[in-house]
Amino acid sequence: MNQLLKPNTYKSGPDSAGRFGGFGGRYVAETLMPLILEVEAAYARAKADPTFDAEWRRLLKDYVGRPSPLWSAERITAHCRASAEPGKGAKVYFKRDELNHTGAHKINAVLGQILLAKRMGKKRIIAETGAGQHGVATATACALFNLPCTVFMGATDVERQQPNVFRMKLLGAEVIAVTSGAATLKDAMNEALRHWVANVEDTYYCIGTVAGPHPYPMMVRDFQSVIGEETRVQMQEAEGRLPDVLVAAIGGGSNAMGLFYPFLDDPSVRMLGVEAGGHGVDTPEHAASLTGGRPGVLHGNRTYLLQDEFGQILEGHSISAGLDYPGVGPEHAWLHELGRVEYVNATDKEALDAFQLCSKLEGIIPALEPAHALAHVLKVAPTLPAETLIVMNMCGRGDKDIFTVAGHLGVKL
Ligand SMILES: *Cc1c(COP(=O)(O)O)cnc(C)c1O
Repeated sequence: MNQLLKPNTYKSGPDSAGRFGGFGGRYVAETLMPLILEVEAAYARAKADPTFDAEWRRLLKDYVGRPSPLWSAERITAHCRASAEPGKGAKVYFKRDELNHTGAHKINAVLGQILLAKRMGKKRIIAETGAGQHGVATATACALFNLPCTVFMGATDVERQQPNVFRMKLLGAEVIAVTSGAATLKDAMNEALRHWVANVEDTYYCIGTVAGPHPYPMMVRDFQSVIGEETRVQMQEAEGRLPDVLVAAIGGGSNAMGLFYPFLDDPSVRMLGVEAGGHGVDTPEHAASLTGGRPGVLHGNRTYLLQDEFGQILEGHSISAGLDYPGVGPEHAWLHELGRVEYVNATDKEALDAFQLCSKLEGIIPALEPAHALAHVLKVAPTLPAETLIVMNMCGRGDKDIFTVAGHLGVKL
């Protein structure tokens, strides 16, 4: 296995077959292969064309509201210093992607993919969604570009994410409830892949994270890297140097890859990916694929997966519907084995506490996903020297989560 050999650059992945060391690749049915190759070729052409980049960046600026600010979270910093020894307590910054149109980072990669689909002459868009955030971002872009949009969503998720289902419908999308399996995100993704095979001619499949067959993990990462690129410039302006520690929540891993990727070859920058610890990684109720899973194949790529002893995929559990995917992007699996990124976890309870603290101290109600990242920041910041600069990706806002949080706090809305 060459997967443990150190590459000359961590930014080098994937190879031409879409592999990140022993992970990634393209494990798809023969019938899907021509479509995947078509996407790969079209993306390579688009990437080399400055007009594609210019159009995408125009949308990011005028429609999404980028660049998102880099915020010095002074009250969170003071809170961490209050419990630290003298000279300890890192300075905490938030990269504010929760201010994007539609309230999270997903729109960055969706707009890139929809522009690509248009170039490819595709006439309709399909997508999968779990909590509904990617479905809403895709439905939004499809409204903007006047493209019919079909979103596959597990029937269980349709039931528990009614506000997002209604949003997608308002935006003109059709939402299909998937009843197979456990009727959650994994099953919605299976169904979307099946549907794609049956509608090859006119359909583009817009994937919501750095998963799926090559070139999706690379392509979604490239689009999300705008987060890290902006952070680099903004930290230079604010502090005159690079950050020391980057922290991001990991569902499939796209917001984390977006923040990390531009810094992968800067050895001074430490990176922490925070998985969903659910009720604890020593219980069956969590979604920490890297900490508690092992390699296998799902949704067209080889990666770390939550699975039972027979290789059956397990349901992930998290208080956050955006983190309960039972897999993780293949590039994270690679960076995990190489030891370039450290993968840790935060429990439901810790995320819930961080959610409330952030609301009270910073006036920012975070999504439950970045609340996991913040929970870990609260653990490490007090242990680090005061000159340490931490950037945490505030990848989504918490409006969507107030019902869940109220429920856990015993409040009836
Ligand atoms: C979808 C989502 C996630 C999880 O997806 P990643 O690909 O891991 O980024 C995290 N946070 C928010 C706010 C989301 O909407």
